[in-house]
Amino acid sequence: MFAEVIINSNARALNKTFDYIVPVNLEKDIKIGSRVFVPFGNGSKIDDGFVINLKSNSEFAKKEIKKIEPDDSLNEFKINLAKLMARKYFCNISDCIKLMLPPGTSNKDIINRMKDKKGNFVYLNIEYKELQELIKLKKIKSEKHIRVINFLENNNGIYKSDLEVLTDVSSSIIKTLEKNGYIKIVEEKIERNPFIGKNIKRDDEKELTDEQKSCFESIKTSIQTESFSSNLIYGITGSGKTEIYLQLIKEVLDKDKSAIVLVPEISLTPQMVDRFLARFGEENIAVLHSKLSNGERYDEWKKIKSNRKTVVIGARSAIFSPVNNLGIIIIDEEHDSSYKSDTTPRYNAKDIGKYMAEKNNCPLVLGSATPDIGTMYLAKNKKINLYSLTKRANNMKLPNVQVVDMRNELVIGNKSMISLKLQDKIQKNLHKQKQTILFLNRRGYSTFIMCRECGFVAKCKNCNISLTYHRNINKLKCHYCGFETSVLKECPECKSNKIKYFGTGTQKLEEEVHKLFPKASTIRMDIDTVSKKNSHEVILNKFKNEKIDILIGTQMVVKGHHFPNVTLVGVITADGLLNLEDYRSAEKTFQTLVQVAGRSGREEAGDVIIQTYNPDHYAIIDSKKQDYDLFYNEEIALRKMLNYPPFCDIIIINFMGTNLNEINNISNLVYKKIYSNKQNKLIIFKPVPSPIDRINNKYRWRIIIKCKLSSKILDIINNGITDDIIYKNNNTRITVDINPNSMS
Ligand code: ADP
Ligand code: ZN
Ligand code: ZN
Repeated sequence: MFAEVIINSNARALNKTFDYIVPVNLEKDIKIGSRVFVPFGNGSKIDDGFVINLKSNSEFAKKEIKKIEPDDSLNEFKINLAKLMARKYFCNISDCIKLMLPPGTSNKDIINRMKDKKGNFVYLNIEYKELQELIKLKKIKSEKHIRVINFLENNNGIYKSDLEVLTDVSSSIIKTLEKNGYIKIVEEKIERNPFIGKNIKRDDEKELTDEQKSCFESIKTSIQTESFSSNLIYGITGSGKTEIYLQLIKEVLDKDKSAIVLVPEISLTPQMVDRFLARFGEENIAVLHSKLSNGERYDEWKKIKSNRKTVVIGARSAIFSPVNNLGIIIIDEEHDSSYKSDTTPRYNAKDIGKYMAEKNNCPLVLGSATPDIGTMYLAKNKKINLYSLTKRANNMKLPNVQVVDMRNELVIGNKSMISLKLQDKIQKNLHKQKQTILFLNRRGYSTFIMCRECGFVAKCKNCNISLTYHRNINKLKCHYCGFETSVLKECPECKSNKIKYFGTGTQKLEEEVHKLFPKASTIRMDIDTVSKKNSHEVILNKFKNEKIDILIGTQMVVKGHHFPNVTLVGVITADGLLNLEDYRSAEKTFQTLVQVAGRSGREEAGDVIIQTYNPDHYAIIDSKKQDYDLFYNEEIALRKMLNYPPFCDIIIINFMGTNLNEINNISNLVYKKIYSNKQNKLIIFKPVPSPIDRINNKYRWRIIIKCKLSSKILDIINNGITDDIIYKNNNTRITVDINPNSMS
């Protein structure tokens, strides 16, 4: 027997199969999808690869397969999917296969993860009631000690380092508690059960409203008849979408099948997972997200594979998890940009979801309060079943949204980032002891450092992008490559000391809030404060539990938690979202503003203030009205007029490298090659530098193609970039992105 093997490599030239002899002793174990180790190239080098096909004849096979890895995550279905993906997303088959493997791909990882790991777990040493008494008697006074004890009441037996992060205390605090005999630390084998010690109350099904019911019944038919259907549930937050998901999943589990639920990474909060645990119990739930360690993720994979029925909840790549008997795919917040990958393979999880639902004869369910314009277009054209939920299932009120024209603030002499109106609202909110969220889309302190004498702008030495001032570390930082440099005392060009800092970021906003409201407590959430594992959770929990007055943050504050005490949301500037050089900037602005507004007033009607220099822009006007339908109609008309998605696809071929000459040559070569094959309907633009034309010392050029993607077009582009001449110029990396998240 012979095997066609793909070598596990991202070198474009190795994206083809090599034939190997299957030794007789391995014949019974080998199958399509087997992971194998083979001698490759000259000498004694051994590489790993994947079996793509088995056959009885080969003209080329000379060497033998050495070893087969017992993992069986892959099968013929997955291999075929990987092949399709490689063609559609212009990458190597092995790049796609890697998404479908359990974490840890090197030989060393495989050995390491087999070892039993040990770890320290923390338990209460005395009854919680007794500890409560001691707290009352002030025998235990430290606020941190009390916090740990209260946390342990519900999370007894938690992993020690998790306890430290989640309660935000140091290891010495835990030690003191142990010394006093209040808690005990036990070394045990790590079971790595993410739900360990969780006390989840079982939650019962709700009686569905009429609107929910008609949606539920219709999708249930698709589950029962085992037929593919594509569905969009369009309903504002709180309209009961999740309740429908839960009841559909119950139908699927009753049929002994599995479910995949995708949510944006950032909304994968414990609260969200708890709702699934409460309904189905932990034995049926697996959670996959990027913050899990390799070991934890491996355990979840094992659990998914060994169960006949599982509910997998995860971010984008969970679409590839090895579930048995797939019975439904649910993609919540389907408009979220995190479903499209920005790195190789540049896939869109919604496309993969549709393919998998089709092949498994089961429903695909998309849900959103502000659906992607493209998804809604398909729904309006009856390509997707549309279900609208118009009423709120609970008694939540819609927020009261006001727009403040920042041009008037300048006229009346208010130079602050916070308009008088918003200042007034914050003051009143503080007085009522209610909480406020301030949203600003830029981190750091100042985003623009310029010499007032000669106009010099401080730019990154590796990237063609201006540096941002970070006050807490007193440094200038590049947000693209991480480069840091000390602050400028004088202009490097003209030696003037008239250096001015323009623009605003979250750090500056926090400082301004402190100046205006010296008594208010604040907490900041942006990439700079949430780099540690779970710190996102820690900040949000702190804000919620310790009743901090004002949360200041970037995009991250938009999703996830429900804060019952937040009654005011201020958008410091909506314009940062609007000015993007991107056909989707209006859509993203509208979606973000609606989502931000949803953070205000969960139980009583809240206030939202949107500050902008463009109060007449339709995205702003429509988000003030919180009217998606109005926005959709305006946006789709514009897209049609300008021939943008969904009326065509935008394909960007990126060229990146250190040698500008080579980039110029190759990009023109690719251009000519595609141009010569071009059909009437393909619009191709000449290669030009990208808007940010240098990142991390690599030049960036691109070709833009506008057309409706089809099998023929895929061939034309694949032929255009797999030319031998291009392989030879290996200083230049070529990537292709279809309808990318960012046009820069
Ligand atoms: P969404 O996912 O659209 O934001 P949810 O499903 O989370 O909405 O529903 C919002 C709240 O209303 C939840 O607390 C949920 O338990 C409750 N809820 C949903 N459907 C019903 C129903 N039919 N009857 C009573 N409560 C419901
Ligand atoms: Zn100067
Ligand atoms: Zn840089």
